[in-house]
Amino acid sequence: MATIHLQQVDKLFGTSYAVKPMDLTIKNGEFVVLLGPSGCGKTTTLRMISGLESVTNGMITFDGKDVTWLHPSERDISFVFQFFALYSHMSCYENISFPLQAKNEPKDEIKRKVSQVAQMLRIESLLDKRPGSLSGGDQQRVALARALVRKPAAFLMDEPLGALDAEFRDSMRAEIKRLHIEQGATTVYVTHDQIEAMAMADKVVVMSAAEVQQVGTPLEVYYDPSNLFVAKFIGSPGMNLLKGHYENGTVGLPGDNLLTVSEKAKTLLGKAVGTGEVVVGFRPESVVLKEDGQLHGSVYSSDLHGGYTMLHLSLGSDIVHARGERRMKHAMNTMLRFDLKSEQVRFFDPKTEKSIK
Ligand code: ATP
Repeated sequence: MATIHLQQVDKLFGTSYAVKPMDLTIKNGEFVVLLGPSGCGKTTTLRMISGLESVTNGMITFDGKDVTWLHPSERDISFVFQFFALYSHMSCYENISFPLQAKNEPKDEIKRKVSQVAQMLRIESLLDKRPGSLSGGDQQRVALARALVRKPAAFLMDEPLGALDAEFRDSMRAEIKRLHIEQGATTVYVTHDQIEAMAMADKVVVMSAAEVQQVGTPLEVYYDPSNLFVAKFIGSPGMNLLKGHYENGTVGLPGDNLLTVSEKAKTLLGKAVGTGEVVVGFRPESVVLKEDGQLHGSVYSSDLHGGYTMLHLSLGSDIVHARGERRMKHAMNTMLRFDLKSEQVRFFDPKTEKSIK
């Protein structure tokens, strides 16, 4: 397995950037997810790593070796795409063994490898069948088996679960992660689904508008987003973001609220803002309902999510999402008081949209 390095790699289609210059290191054995909304450049980045797309500028190395201009077949990679292209006239066994047959591996060795991967993916009973007779989930398992039967330098996966229904997605997600851990395989995985990214990644690369917004562990991008885009994009719902005015240890917030910040935040904001505008960010679970809480808002609506209730509170014309107990019931327009877990409150510069650190 390889360490992949992208150095100032970019891609222009005509005069517009599909990917702006990016630096990225994917360590040996790491599971890296490229995450972002449609059209942000994830697939193009993956295709440049694979060699299916040429770079406009920059260099790509696998274990220090320059592969920038190598053909995909010379890069030793395995792909899995959203729409698995299995050969319909071949049995699943023949489909899975195809990459090994192409390399003229000995018959016994092929049999051993196919049987090992089929056991891992629990598809032994499907090996004699044709793909057309299988469910979508089983077809994707066969496609995965075909990719995993080799031990390439890296696995590249583009929305491999996108075409599956919710139940299969959950089980395949767990399966891919488990296979990754068992094989220690360097994997680059593209998705627009932030829940999938959070669940699977060692490292998430959040992209928007052809640009990398943040590279971090799932917890880093969740709790310490680098900017307002990441704060809103990660989480369901995203981070609460309230515009406020900071002055001497307190922030004036919508709905006639005044938030006293922690001593640490006071030092930080004193230096970065002085007196002026700031965006206050906090997750729904950072809200603590309390009768003597410093902040207040009125109940706009609430949704029961089985294990918890999501409350939506009006603060002036803003809505704050607050995660509460499952049994919680409050009538609409009830005024509730709350505090924020101060260590989980984040601040952003409204002009640059960047996190204040
Ligand atoms: P999606 O999740 O919808 O696949 P993405 O994040 O993977 O989106 P890309 O497919 O990488 O995004 O596309 C990035 C940008 O580059 C888009 O604006 C797209 O229209 C453009 N683009 C991609 N391929 C080409 C091409 N061959 N020619 C011209 N423009 C392209």
